[in-house]
Amino acid sequence: HAKDEGRGRTEMFTAELALKAADRAELERDLLRALEREEFLLEFQPQIESLSGRAVAAEALVRWAHPERDLVMPGLFVPIAEESGVIVALGDWVMDRVCETAARWARAGIAHRIAINISSRELEQADFFLRLRHAMATHATPPVMLELEISESLAMDMEARLLDQLGALRREGVRVAIDGFGTGYSNLSRLKDLPVDRIKIDRSLVRDIAISAEARTICTAIVGLLQGLGLEVVVEGVENQAQMDMLRVIGCTLFQGYHFDPPMRELAYIGRYAPQPSLDQRDIG
Ligand code: C2E
Ligand code: MG
Ligand code: MG
Repeated sequence: HAKDEGRGRTEMFTAELALKAADRAELERDLLRALEREEFLLEFQPQIESLSGRAVAAEALVRWAHPERDLVMPGLFVPIAEESGVIVALGDWVMDRVCETAARWARAGIAHRIAINISSRELEQADFFLRLRHAMATHATPPVMLELEISESLAMDMEARLLDQLGALRREGVRVAIDGFGTGYSNLSRLKDLPVDRIKIDRSLVRDIAISAEARTICTAIVGLLQGLGLEVVVEGVENQAQMDMLRVIGCTLFQGYHFDPPMRELAYIGRYAPQPSLDQRDIG
């Protein structure tokens, strides 16, 4: 099972990282070198629209294909990249790859948006939007092919400059999502004024809905509130049919989770969710 595999890799590498943490500088150098050597790759996890059973979007998730190890998962290196500032260069790489992929998909008639995770550290950079627009222009990426995922806490205290820039991108067609909703503290009255299209409900809020009446009550109330505000709700971390059944009763229609598929490489994603029989393989990478 993908999750168990992930955990196995995680434990192995964590011990080594803990040792290495004594030498942060070395780890930062490792990450920078990995960028130079192009050791990072993206996987794509489908977001499924339950009525049609189709994927409508994919979340891009970064992995480190370390030459001497199994794939290293972002939970292990993204926090270190954030602390050290390497996330800015890594984020540029992710934006460039996503913009290139999304442009290629659009040309091939694959109308699935691709969502990019943006960390607060990246958005703090004064030139973040310039760099994003540069990546989009380089690949002629249609704005409607992109979605930006920002954290709940960041969404709640964005300054005017950020709000303006996000608002401008949204008017051009880029979607904005709040990621991990329900893990931080939201100012609920602020939510309706934010330049945001959709909310991704964190998996911690759905984990127990099939077995706990309280968990169900909380989830129902939150989904009702968000939908009442006109926001699209995506439920993350859906792992089994029992959760699905409950979520459909609650009124959710967009899902992401191992119950459907784990994140996968681009070709696997296309083969499964957007088969292109007549397409030249060179066009889909
Ligand atoms: P996230 O943005 O909330 O991404 C969803 C995470 O949940 C992914 O973990 C995904 O593999 C995992 N997941 C999906 N379905 C299920 C499920 O049914 N059950 C469970 N237990 N987990 C599920 P992943 O790929 O390890 O990424 C972890 C986090 O690392 C992401 O959380 C995101 O915050 C960060 N991250 C990943 N890629 C990037 C990136 O390119 N840039 C930045 N800044 N952060 C990234
Ligand atoms: Mg995300
Ligand atoms: Mg999330």
